[in-house]
Amino acid sequence: MTTYLLKLGELTLKGENRKGFENTLKQNLLSLLRQTGVKVETTAGRFFVHCPEEVREKVENALDHLLGIAGWAKTRIAEKTVEAVIQACVEEAETLFEQGVRTFKIEARRTDKSFPLDSYKIRCRAGAAVLDAVRGLQVDVHTPQGIIEVEIRERSYIYGTAKKGLRGLPVGTAGRGLLLLSGGIDSPVAGYLMASRGMRIDAVYFHAYPYTSEEARQKAVTLAHIVGRYALGIRLYTVNFTAVQMRIKEGAPEPWLTILLRMAMMECAQILALHRGAKCLITGESLSQVASQTVENIACTESLVRLPVLRPLIGMDKDQIIRMAETIGTYETSILPYQDCCVLFSPPHPVLRGGVTEAARFYEQLEPGELIKAALRESAMIKCAFP
Ligand code: ATP
Ligand code: MG
Repeated sequence: MTTYLLKLGELTLKGENRKGFENTLKQNLLSLLRQTGVKVETTAGRFFVHCPEEVREKVENALDHLLGIAGWAKTRIAEKTVEAVIQACVEEAETLFEQGVRTFKIEARRTDKSFPLDSYKIRCRAGAAVLDAVRGLQVDVHTPQGIIEVEIRERSYIYGTAKKGLRGLPVGTAGRGLLLLSGGIDSPVAGYLMASRGMRIDAVYFHAYPYTSEEARQKAVTLAHIVGRYALGIRLYTVNFTAVQMRIKEGAPEPWLTILLRMAMMECAQILALHRGAKCLITGESLSQVASQTVENIACTESLVRLPVLRPLIGMDKDQIIRMAETIGTYETSILPYQDCCVLFSPPHPVLRGGVTEAARFYEQLEPGELIKAALRESAMIKCAFP
C-alpha cells in the first residue's frame, strides 16, 4: 500500500462552505480514481489516498490534474513515538539523498499536543539524527534542495519535498459556464481558469466546414480533451456556422464582418447556455490584443446577450497566456496551423471602435436568427475526457 497526503487549497474558506468544498473535492478525486481500488480518508485540512502499488502512476497523474489542492506528497506513516518518527525521517533522508539531494531542512507540525516533543524539538532531534545517519547531507534552512516534513496527527506522517498542487477550487462548486472554444491559444486557457474557480465547463466550437478543415475541428476536440482532464469532462458542441457567415459576408460592410460574426456566435452560444443551464459565457478575449477586442468592439460583441460574459484573460498579456498554455498542456495543439472560421473571415481593415447602435442595426438587417437556430439544431456533441 502507498499513501499520499493532500494539502487542501484556499484554507481561508470556513464553516459550512468549507465542508461543501471538501465533499466536492472528495467526490472529484473518487471519480478520477474510479476502479483503482483506492481509499480516500479525510481529516481537517488533509486528505489521504491509500492505493495499491500498481496504480501509483494513475493516482499521481490524477493528483497533477486535481483542482483544489495546494500540494501533495507520497508519505510514510509511522507510529506516534519519538523513535519511530526519527527513524522514518532518516529513511526519507536516505531516499532524498539517493535522488541527488545534498541539503535539507526538517519542518514539523503537531496537531496532537500529547506527543512528547513539540515541533521545534522534533526538528532538532530529527535533524541531528539525519545528519548523523546520512553522510554527505547538510542542513540549509534557507534554500534546501529537499524538505522533510513531519506531521503528528492521528498518526505520524513523514514525507519528502511535496509537489505543488494546482490550487483553485474544486470543479463543481461554482455552477456551469459555456466556453466559446476556438482552436487558438487563448480560449483553452480561459476555460481552464474558470474550471480552476470551480466551474463546470461546456464548450462550443464554431466551424465553417467545408471552408475549414476536419483537422481544425479535430484540434478543438483535442483541446477540449486536454482542458477536460482538469474540468472533469467537457461536453463540446460543434456548430457549422457556414450559412451564418455567408449571410454576414453578403449583407454587411466588410470592416464589420468580424464584429457581426462574434455577435452571432454570442447569440448562438447564449441559446445553448440557457438550454444547458449554464450561468455565463466564457471567452478568451484579452483587451486590445486584436482589433475585435478593443473595449468598444467588446461592447458590440456582447450587446445582444444578457448572460454575463466572463473573460478571465482580459488583463493578461500574450506571454503570460502562452506560459499558462504551456503549463496546462494546450500550447502545442493550439499552434498547429489549421485555420478556424474567423481567420478565413478577417477583413483587411476592420472597424476598431464600433458603435453599439450601429452594430445592432447592421446585425438586425441580416436577420440571422433562423440560420443560427438551424445551425444549432444540426450541431453535434462530443463528450471529452469524462473520468
Ligand atoms: P483564441 O486564441 O481563443 O482563438 P484569439 O486571440 O484568436 O483567441 P479571437 O479570434 O478574436 O481571439 O477570438 C476571441 C474569442 O472568441 C476566443 O477567445 C473565443 O472565446 C471566441 N471564438 C473565436 N473563434 C471561435 C470559434 N471558431 N468557435 C468558438 N469560439 C470562438
Ligand atoms: Mg482565434
